[in-house]
Amino acid sequence: MKKSRSKNQSTAKSRACSPSGETFDRRASELTELLGACRELSDILNPRELYAAFAGILRSKFGVLKLGLFVYDGQQAAFELVFSHGLGKLNYKFKSDKKDLWQTLLKGTPFPVVDRDGEPLFPSFLEKQDLKVLPSELWVPLVMRGEVIGILTVGRKAGRKPFDDFDLYFLQQIGAQAAVSINTCRLYERRRKEKEDLDKTLQNLSLLYDIGKAMNFISDLKKLLQFILNQAIDITAAEKGSIMLYDPETNRLNIRVLAGLEDTDYQEKVNCNEIECRSFRPGEGIAGQVFLSGNPMIVNNIREDEVFIASETSFVRSIACIPMVVYSDVIGVINVTNKKGGQQFDDEDVRMLKAVADQAAVAINKAQLWDLAVTDSLTGLYVRRYFMVKLQEEMHRADRYNKTLSVIMVDLDKFKNINDTYGHAAGDRALKAISQFLQKNVRDVDAIARYGGEEFVMLIPDADKDAALCLAERLRDELSRIRVGDLPQITISLGIASYPADGTDIEDLIKKADVAMYAAKQAGRNKAVKYSDNIKLVRPSSSPPEESLAAL
Ligand code: GH3
Ligand code: MG
Ligand code: MG
Repeated sequence: MKKSRSKNQSTAKSRACSPSGETFDRRASELTELLGACRELSDILNPRELYAAFAGILRSKFGVLKLGLFVYDGQQAAFELVFSHGLGKLNYKFKSDKKDLWQTLLKGTPFPVVDRDGEPLFPSFLEKQDLKVLPSELWVPLVMRGEVIGILTVGRKAGRKPFDDFDLYFLQQIGAQAAVSINTCRLYERRRKEKEDLDKTLQNLSLLYDIGKAMNFISDLKKLLQFILNQAIDITAAEKGSIMLYDPETNRLNIRVLAGLEDTDYQEKVNCNEIECRSFRPGEGIAGQVFLSGNPMIVNNIREDEVFIASETSFVRSIACIPMVVYSDVIGVINVTNKKGGQQFDDEDVRMLKAVADQAAVAINKAQLWDLAVTDSLTGLYVRRYFMVKLQEEMHRADRYNKTLSVIMVDLDKFKNINDTYGHAAGDRALKAISQFLQKNVRDVDAIARYGGEEFVMLIPDADKDAALCLAERLRDELSRIRVGDLPQITISLGIASYPADGTDIEDLIKKADVAMYAAKQAGRNKAVKYSDNIKLVRPSSSPPEESLAAL
């Protein structure tokens, strides 16, 4: 075997290097061809394109029907088939022990792998590596600066002619060029990937910065949760998601916001606290486990996962669940579900979600404390003190932009009867339901507070007295047509006063709205009345406006 290889090589060298007569012309044309082929390869930066161009050159020059191109993967110490022609769908890889074969390859010259009769010259090696699947006559090492970049295996030449010395010279030279080009492609790919990774990291950092900045400006818990969830869904390209917060009183994880659901009605009702979703015990389901352990979890094949429980959500293929931690307490979890395009959630998704969750946890904690301070625990409406601050701010804004605003006082009619007949608990439920009804029927910019026991006050920016009366009439009318549970019809009386027309400070304005509300009561209840200086109250008896104002 060694003999025939060295003979081949020396002949190839002497004939190719000392041209004369006819051979001179052939050599000149071969060199021109070689130069063109090398130029073609040196211009390509995409590996796939390069492999195809390399194979294309060999096929058109030699008419070979079968060839395979292997590239060496240093990490796996193996040659991997990256391109083949005429070998069918072959997925092939063979290990190199860097011993005999490696030494032969390092010489960089093409060598035959079969003898004249087609018998293998390296039978034991070919057998060991199962390389018989690659019908080849010649192997061409692709070597660059003492490094074997790859191997080209070449099958029979067209017309079954043997490869002559010119062919071998051409193969050796084009092989050397291919080695350089493959190496360049790899370096280029690596740089491109590094740049892509760096760009992505920068983009993610700036995204996280923007999210963090935005979170600081949202003090309303519901809006904050919605913002966080939408960001989490966006950055992981998920279809939908939810945020669950832990309630220490009930020891349960409750779904607080949903996004991306097809059933938008259901989603809206859950988000507005109108219906309660399923809640989870710590340790129960994926969310419960993440909550207990404080560690993120990805499940990409829900059907095979035992932790997942069917009712966790519907139509779930994959889920990533991240804990939100404040001062080492887990306050809840962010779930994102079904990565778009049927893809799987990966470590990068977890890394990004974790960064969002860390910021979110602090912002949510702050918003929860704020919520606790400014909202009434029974009705979820603002407390009176905070309402006054908002009203003062809104008056300043109205001054600045030369606008009006209105205040509506609302009192439930004959509510004492409800308590007396159905009990205080039923009365509480009615107060809660009516509060939700009011909240749902005003704009986001409007503010509602529980002013006293069963009295509410509403701030309607940018609304004069007629516009506010319109709203008050609509609320009164709609409420008079719905029922709370099994309780009898509950109606409300409303009084409206506007800034600056009816009063120029908070106390004055509230007092005028209160007077108007009492006028509504006197007019028979279930009425809405605008304040006017002509209102004459005939019964300022048990709870006159002045008295209720003293409580301010
Ligand atoms: P009207 O306003 O129409 O004159 O009659 P009213 O029966 O509603 O009279 P008023 O407003 O003076 O009475 C308020 C009643 O509301 C007293 C109390 O029984 C009830 N109430 C006040 N706060 C609460 C509360 O937090 N829960 C319950 N269940 N009832 C409350
Ligand atoms: Mg009342
Ligand atoms: Mg009252």
